[in-house]
Amino acid sequence: MSNAKSPAIRSEGRRNKSGSLTESSNTLAYSRTRAPAAVQCAWCDHRFDSTDDHLTGRVRCARCGVATTSPWPSDEQLSAAYADWYRPKSGRFSGLGDKVLRRTRSALADRLHRILPAGPVLDVGAGDGTLVEAFVRRGREAVGLEPHASGPHIRNAEVEEVDGNWSAVIFWHSLEHLRQPARALSHAATLLSPGGTLVVAVPNATSLQARAFGDRWFALDLPRHLVHLSPPALLPKIEALGLRVERVSYMRGGQVVFGWVHGFVGKLPGHPDLYDAIRRSEARQATHSPVFRLYALAAAVVALPVALAATAVEVAARSGGTIYIEARREPAPEKVPVM
Ligand SMILES: [Zn+2]
Repeated sequence: MSNAKSPAIRSEGRRNKSGSLTESSNTLAYSRTRAPAAVQCAWCDHRFDSTDDHLTGRVRCARCGVATTSPWPSDEQLSAAYADWYRPKSGRFSGLGDKVLRRTRSALADRLHRILPAGPVLDVGAGDGTLVEAFVRRGREAVGLEPHASGPHIRNAEVEEVDGNWSAVIFWHSLEHLRQPARALSHAATLLSPGGTLVVAVPNATSLQARAFGDRWFALDLPRHLVHLSPPALLPKIEALGLRVERVSYMRGGQVVFGWVHGFVGKLPGHPDLYDAIRRSEARQATHSPVFRLYALAAAVVALPVALAATAVEVAARSGGTIYIEARREPAPEKVPVM
């Protein structure tokens, strides 16, 4: 994928190595944790060597352009990264945040429920089950897979362990969390009934915001995000699975405006982490003084108009912070009666 390695991305790599801009970022902190370096691309299995781009906390594959988190975390390190603070039972965000999250999942379920053929829906990486419940409320059978949660419709299993026929398999911001995302996607394609739809939303690692914020980009989220995907890697892979890509959106995947606001706020003195500041106190990674939180929130309000403008530009350029894809398995051709 030649366009996955544009000059802009290369210069980002050099800037990372020069230092000061990345000081004290989560990415830099993670890159110093004790774990073996990634030895191969999590997307295409290419063995890393000196031809790949060794960035802070990740290696960009010379063959496919996808970056893999490096060091490669152990299961214990990942469990610690998903510890209770990430998704406490009381909800992740203060005030309106969790309500907004529920409403957007509800809108997604509405849309998919309308366009999908009859049959159950599989949500891979279901989180707290908000999307699954939205389908169930609409009278559609739905199962969520989630190793870090439990619930009436949630199973602790990998997608590779699932069989049967499904009207949709959904990876809503979950593919990037998997150790073998390409294998998961290939198996998901085999689960689709004729006319069934694969739905994928992931951060877009070649978006304008990813380039603008480099190591501080909100959606790097090391080490939980193990692979950093881009449209030139994802779209041909999905088509190679025999699916027809019917919709690509650089807005529908969510978190696009937030990515910009978060990035602008993080450039201020003290590098406030807006994502941490809006979480409920029990869901925060670091403890900040109320004044520092207020500073982050006030900065976010000021940054919002600029973030909206930047979002409009990157969505128009089809280079938005997330990519959302719907791809359909062709219905079986109707049998023509033999004359
Ligand atoms: Zn690769």
